[in-house]
Parts: sequence; structure tokens; C-alpha cells
Amino acid sequence: MVILLTNDDGIEAEGLLALKKELSKIGEVWVIAPSGEQSAVSHSLSLHRPLEVRKIGERSYAIDGTPTDGVILGYYGILKNSPDLLVSGINHGPNLGDDVTYSGTVAAAIEGTLLGIPSIAVSVADPNFRYFNPGAKFVKKIALLILEKRLPENTFLNINIPAKREKIFKYQITKLDKKKKKKVELKRITLRGKTFYWIGKENTTWAKGKYTDYEAIKKGYISITPIKLDLTDYEAIENIKGWRIF
Ligand SMILES: [Mg+2]
Repeated sequence: MVILLTNDDGIEAEGLLALKKELSKIGEVWVIAPSGEQSAVSHSLSLHRPLEVRKIGERSYAIDGTPTDGVILGYYGILKNSPDLLVSGINHGPNLGDDVTYSGTVAAAIEGTLLGIPSIAVSVADPNFRYFNPGAKFVKKIALLILEKRLPENTFLNINIPAKREKIFKYQITKLDKKKKKKVELKRITLRGKTFYWIGKENTTWAKGKYTDYEAIKKGYISITPIKLDLTDYEAIENIKGWRIF
């Protein structure tokens, strides 16, 4: 099995290295990842500059671009054939509910899915960024299952692992939770007549819906959310048709 491994925390991140170690036991792992931090870059693509690719080891490449850039360079440039699986992570911190829309980790899995590669995004829901090994072991298990069972077309798995030192045996198949309220800290700086804002910490109140990823993590379970790329709101189609714009 050929596995393409990437992340948004950079090629030297502990979460990626933990996955590389475990996944190397079941397949040929190609690491193509940003050379530095690319968290919250979402699905952005670098179209206005060339991207430097540095080979830093056997089947290991650091790129000065986004996670999405990495998947595209891997698929069209570096790998000879399409990989059997794409794994993005393990992200340092959670990717739950509405936050998946900002995540570079999740975006790499989106790009993989768009290219027809079975894909998963994995995050450790630990604000202190510890305990990657239980998650890496779980991913190894689910990677083998995906090859056997296949994923539905246009769907990937977003996996969040609770912050635990020991192996975790409980999981829940979930839906994304919603943020009920959020407050974002802003710092305003004026320098040489110019005004800057720095987006800071977010204080969130979650809706805490039943069977959501947020609930699973709170209970200490691994959360697995299947995410579909078709964002169309089919129920709204009839409603909007009723507007009779002309
Ligand atoms: Mg990150």
C-alpha cells in the first residue's frame, strides 16, 4: 500500500512523525509536507509563485507551500502512481465542528478526495499538543479497514483523538457540532500612520448537539465524522426557486 502523508504543522511536527512511524509498518509512506507551520490556511493553493521542493530523506519532501499544494505536487509531480491512501495529520490540536472549514489538515484530505484518493484527516484534541502515539496506532488500524471496506465516493473521514496517554478503544461515528456563540479577540496596532489588526484567541460556546464530534471528544471517545464534499443544500433548492428572481 502506498500512503501519502502530509499535515499543516510542518514536516518536523511530532504528530506527523508519530504517523510516519506507525504507517511505515503497513505500507510505503511518502511524506510531502509544508516546511513550516501552515495551520488555518484552509484549502488555499499557491498560484502566484513557484514552490520550492526539498528532498530531506528517502520518500520525504518539504515544500514551501500549503498542505493542498503538497497533495497536488505529490499526486502530479513526485509520486509515480496515485497513492492508495492519503493521511493528513496528526494535527496538533482539535479540528471539530465549524473549525474544519479553516483547517489546513482537513483541506489536504479534501484535496485528496477531489483527486479520487481515499483520504483521512486526523487531529489530537489536546490544547497542549501531546500524546500522538495512541492516535497513530488507531490510524494504522483504520487505514487497513479503509482499504478493505472502501470509502463512499466524495467522502473522507475527519478523525479527532482525545488527549490520552494510553491506547483508546472507544469511538463514535459522529456529525459535526456547531458553534453557538463565538468571540474573537482582536488586537489593534497603529504604526507609522497605518492600522493593523491581529486576530487572536477565540472563545467558543458549542451547541453540544447529540452524537456530534464535540460530544464524543468530551466523553473521551475517538470521533469519526464522514464528510461529504458536495456542499449543495438540496432542501434549499426548492425554497430559492420560489424567489422567482425574474
Ligand atoms: Mg495545525
